[in-house]
Amino acid sequence: MTTSSRAQARAFATRAVHAGREDLTDLGVHAIPIDLSTTYPSRDSLGEAARLDIMGTGEQVPGLPLYGRLGNPTVARFEAALAELEGCESAVAFASGMAALTACIQAVVTAGKPHVVAVRPLYGTSDHLLDSGLLGSTVTWAQPHEVAAAIRPDTGLVIVETPANPTLAEVDLRALSEACGPVPLLADNTFATPVLQRPAEHGAGIVLHSATKFLGGHGDVMGGVVACDEQFARALRQLRFVTGAVLHPLAAYLLVRGLSTLPIRLTTSSATAAELADRLTRHPKVSKVHYPGLEPRRPADQMTSGGAMVSVEIDGDPHSVIGAVRLITPAVSLGSTDTLIQHPASISHHIVAPEDRAASGVNDRLLRISVGLEDVEDLWDDLDHALKAAD
Ligand code: PLP
Repeated sequence: MTTSSRAQARAFATRAVHAGREDLTDLGVHAIPIDLSTTYPSRDSLGEAARLDIMGTGEQVPGLPLYGRLGNPTVARFEAALAELEGCESAVAFASGMAALTACIQAVVTAGKPHVVAVRPLYGTSDHLLDSGLLGSTVTWAQPHEVAAAIRPDTGLVIVETPANPTLAEVDLRALSEACGPVPLLADNTFATPVLQRPAEHGAGIVLHSATKFLGGHGDVMGGVVACDEQFARALRQLRFVTGAVLHPLAAYLLVRGLSTLPIRLTTSSATAAELADRLTRHPKVSKVHYPGLEPRRPADQMTSGGAMVSVEIDGDPHSVIGAVRLITPAVSLGSTDTLIQHPASISHHIVAPEDRAASGVNDRLLRISVGLEDVEDLWDDLDHALKAAD
């Protein structure tokens, strides 16, 4: 068995701890080194010019990266770790999830395939980026069963989130990837993370994360990352070099650290979320609970548990619930150690036109909860008390 096939055979939790750190013992260090250099001195300008010709195409070359916008060793550790955990050849990290999505769209626009087919709902700003055509792309919004018919000769990408933000709608990735034919399927895996779902195993060629969320896990780092094959990764690196949407090395350090506790965090908060979702189905102020698996699963083998996100439709005023929580943090974003609650129609999806929002199930009564690591009874106390304020 080679070193890398031995690593691949290890359990996911083991790989989450060790990915991106395999050389540390030989280096004689325990924490991963943070390289803050913005430039890399060299006395060989001609040699660097030759390397730059290659790096400018997005191809990676051995040695240090010449300049911080071309790459960074600490960021490279996070990329290697995430690629391994998603089961992809490569990964390319960005300054935020939106920067990562922007690069994916720019890659297909510059390749002459500016048409995107996308399944709603998506995170509000992702929806806006596509709907506004700001990057020169055009979009056809389609339900999963309409995707095959919506694909055209100039379609460069199909985009889906599953579970979707904020309705937790699940899409069968295997069926969708078959409907895409040769067009790459981009699955935003921010909500599930590779702990619960690995889209590449179900046919998605491109897996995107807002690393700001569960991957970082503590609400203190912004980042984005795309796991994909090496060919698409080159296009992304080439764009990142010229557009400059790089991940900071300190952020990469925090993300590698976050990955090591990702399985234990997701497992714990998913169990709490499942319990809360179950209790919420019987709460008099809740008319509907959105949680993967509450109803019979569509893609049964796609996600190993329901995850840490729950959404509820309130029978009453959702804003008074937000105003009444005392333990739960009333804030946008998700995937932190503390539980967060927000009103998608006012915050995360406010930028989407009200009629489009409503058509994709994001109604004004919906609240989205990102379940953290607190004790389930304390969370239930706070939720129950806040829901009773919903008049
Ligand atoms: N994708 C999803 C599912 C998100 O929820 C978000 C942000 O909330 C993004 C992408 C964008 O990520 P970022 O805020 O890191 O730019």
